[in-house]
Parts: sequence; structure tokens; C-alpha cells
Amino acid sequence: MRVLFVASECAPFVKTGGLADVIGAVPKALEAMGHEVKILIPAYRALLPLLETGQRVSEFSDLFGGKVRVIEVRAEGLSLLLLDAPHLFDRDGTLYLTPEGQDWPDNHLRFAALGLVGAHIAADGADGWVPDVVNCHDWQAGLLPAYLRQFKRPAPAVVTTIHNIAFQGVYGPQNLAPLGLSAELFTQDGIEYWGSISFLKAGLALADKITTVSNSYASELLMPEFGMGMEGLLTARAGDLSGILNGIDLDVWNPGTDPALPRPYNARSLKGKGINKAEVEARFDLTPNPSAPLFCAVSRLTSQKGFDMLLDCLPGLIAKGGRLALLGSGEQAIEQAFVDASQRYKGAVGVVIGYDEGLSHLLQGGSDAIVIPSRFEPCGLTQLYGLRYGTIPVVARTGGLADTIIDANDAGLQANCATGIQFSPITTQMFSQALARACDLYAQPKIWSAMVRRAMKHPVGWDVSAGAYLDVYNAALEQKSN
Ligand code: ADP
Repeated sequence: MRVLFVASECAPFVKTGGLADVIGAVPKALEAMGHEVKILIPAYRALLPLLETGQRVSEFSDLFGGKVRVIEVRAEGLSLLLLDAPHLFDRDGTLYLTPEGQDWPDNHLRFAALGLVGAHIAADGADGWVPDVVNCHDWQAGLLPAYLRQFKRPAPAVVTTIHNIAFQGVYGPQNLAPLGLSAELFTQDGIEYWGSISFLKAGLALADKITTVSNSYASELLMPEFGMGMEGLLTARAGDLSGILNGIDLDVWNPGTDPALPRPYNARSLKGKGINKAEVEARFDLTPNPSAPLFCAVSRLTSQKGFDMLLDCLPGLIAKGGRLALLGSGEQAIEQAFVDASQRYKGAVGVVIGYDEGLSHLLQGGSDAIVIPSRFEPCGLTQLYGLRYGTIPVVARTGGLADTIIDANDAGLQANCATGIQFSPITTQMFSQALARACDLYAQPKIWSAMVRRAMKHPVGWDVSAGAYLDVYNAALEQKSN
């Protein structure tokens, strides 16, 4: 099967979150199963050097104010179709934000270009390569099926994948004509959303099938608490919606070979983890103590992620002998609160504000536990890295966190199946109790190390889920042919 992925991020090239990891991993797993996958992503400034090594596969003389080329490149085991549109993507700043941290004012044009070029490739192919299925990811690719519908020509099946429903790409109705969208599509069962245009809604309403990144999140999305305004549409399309759990790249995340770890290790010998722990303590200015539990956090610091609750849990955690090493960036108030906490609890709380891939690996390789108190979490990846690295996840019971961790309650421990600690309802009090439970379990080395070894054996690769994507693609094709 030939599959076109359309997305705004792809690891290891450009990443702000879990979306990038998925886009970098699923195509490899599908290719290993004998399928062809090409990934259309914008040629942001960081990707421009790659253009030199590629080959032009299509060109548009004027698209939203400039010339656009699509350059095909094979890099890092992936086939990329780079959307070379300097007027839209050759900029300082991050993928979505200006250097001052504001949304780019033309984000609607930037990602409409992604959808429009994706639609052209879907309909006409790229240098003779025509996809059977297009998999659009998140709102940035959402307009693709809208443009495709406007072409009024035979088209491949379209699957839209929701990585996080909180991001919806909503823009005023005055953008309809500038985006080249027909008024015909501006209806309740099309791209219209409370009087505006929603890129995500377009992707959901007009795709043949919809997936999201865990089963629990697929069910949660039908409820007003989680659906964020899309629950009605998703309920109407529930028959076409399925959850496919994210996996992780087992080569990139391998504690036995990870170059970011001073001492790689495996489930047979965990000695290296102790040496890595000393390195984490040094990097985060923590008082060295091999026998005190070390919790880590690696996250965007936004209200979704629940780290404000962690701030309130710190005195209790420290009283139990726990320490915290936190790596994160995001909302300034949360960043500052953690910097303040690291001053107040010197030696027990260490904080690095920023984004650092290597340090995130070290934290997984050198910490005893990882905390993920998200208020909602479509899938979550850091708990999967935690399992693979024997870094026990302490998680809120929601979305993919609920689906991937088996709680160390009495039954779970007795049945020898526990791999972490879950808490619900998602409150500071329950989080605090979960942290205390983790400290108590850590104080029982036999139970703890059995749990660590079990976690490390838990399957977290892509094999099963890649097959599930294929099943959805086949179902979409069948639905379209009927
Ligand atoms: P989300 O996509 O909502 O941010 P996920 O858990 O799905 O959450 O994915 C987050 C990804 O980003 C993981 O690969 C995690 O390791 C990485 N990450 C998040 N914050 C940082 C950071 N400050 N430094 C390095 N990696 C980070």
C-alpha cells in the first residue's frame, strides 16, 4: 500500500511534542511491513540544508503569495516530501510561534498550504507516485480533505488522526476566500465551527476514517469534558473513530545502547541505572543519595500537564525522602514556580527550564520514577519511555496513561502484573497519595525491583499498532469503494 502522511512535525528533524515522534516512527514500522510511506512536512528553516540533497517532484508558481516546490529526500530512514515555501516557513522562531512567543499571524495560510499541496499530491501524485491512502495528522493537515473535495475528482481515502483535540486551528470566516475555500463547504457538516473555520473540524468531518492515539481517549472524546466542542461531531462519527495506541522507537529509546547514558543497562543488570542516577543528581544540583527515590518529569509545562499540582505535592514528597529533577518549558508562571521551588528546596528539587533531548534520555535512564499528572492525555509518550527504562511511571488515570500502566494496587502486586502507579480522581490530594505510595514501594527493594524489571519487559514498540493503522487504511479504502 502507498500511504501519504501529512503533518507539521517529524522526529528527529522538527519536534515540539509527541506528534513528531509518531510521525517519525509509524512510517518506518509500515515500511518494515512492505508498504511505501512518504511524509509531507513544511521545510522550516532547520530543514533547509536537506533541500540540497533532494529532488523536485512538484512545483506551484504562486501559492499564498510565493513560489512553492516539493522536494523529495530520503533521510534518517524516512522518505520526506519537503514543502519548500520560503515565504511561509523560512523563519526564525519555532514551528508555530514567532521569536517573541506569539502565534505566527499567518499560521492559517502556512498550514492551509500544507493541506492544499497535500491534496494536490493526493489527487495527482508526486513524480508519478500516487498514494492509496492519505493520513492527515492534527489540525495543521485538516484542510486537506476540504481541498480534495473541491477538486471534484477521484481521490484516495483519507484518514485523520487526532493527537490532541485541544489544538483546533480556528480562524474567522473572512479567511474563506483568502484560503481558496468554497462557500459550499462552510456548513455545519463541513468546515464551519460556531461561525468560524476550524481546520481540525474539516479534517474530522471530511475524512473517511478517524483515529486517535489511545482507546481511552477515543471514548473520552465523545464526552463534553474532553471533546472540547467536537464531541457532537465525533459521536455522530463514532463508527468511524478508533483508538490506536502510540508506540515508541525501540532503537532510539534503548537503555542498553543509549549514547546519552553514562552507563547503559538492561533488565538483567540494573547497576548502570545507579551510576546514571548520580549523573542526574550532579546535573540537577541534587544532594547525592543512592537510596532515596528520585522522581523526574519531562514535559511541556502547560495546564494540561498538571504540574501545578506537583508544586503543592513537593513538601509531602520531600518529607517522604523523595527528590525531583524536572526538565520542561512552557507557560512562564509554571516555569518560574519550579525555579522558585528549586531555590526553596535546594538539594531536593532540581529544575532545568528548556528543551533538551539528551537530558530527557538521561532523566529516563537515571531516575527511579517519572511523574505524569496530566488532566487529560491523549496517549503520552514519556510513560512509555519510563516503562522501557525501568523508570516507574506515576500517572493520572486518563487517556493513554490509563491504557498503558498497570497500577500497583494490592491486586496488581499480588498478580505480579503492576508496572506503575495510577491515581484518580485527578486532584492534588490523590497525586500526593500516589507519590507517597511510590516512596513506600521504593522502600521495599524486592517489590520495587521486580516492578522495574516487569516494566522494562512491557511491550511498547510499534508492531501491533502499525498493523492497526493498516487495518484502518484498508477499512477506509473499502468504505470509499462502496
Ligand atoms: P505532548 O505531545 O503532549 O507534549 P507526549 O508525552 O506525547 O506529550 O510527548 C512529549 C514528547 O516531548 C516526549 O518525547 C518527551 O520526551 C518530549 N519532551 C517534552 N518536553 C521536553 C523537554 N523539555 N526536553 C526534551 N524533551 C521533551
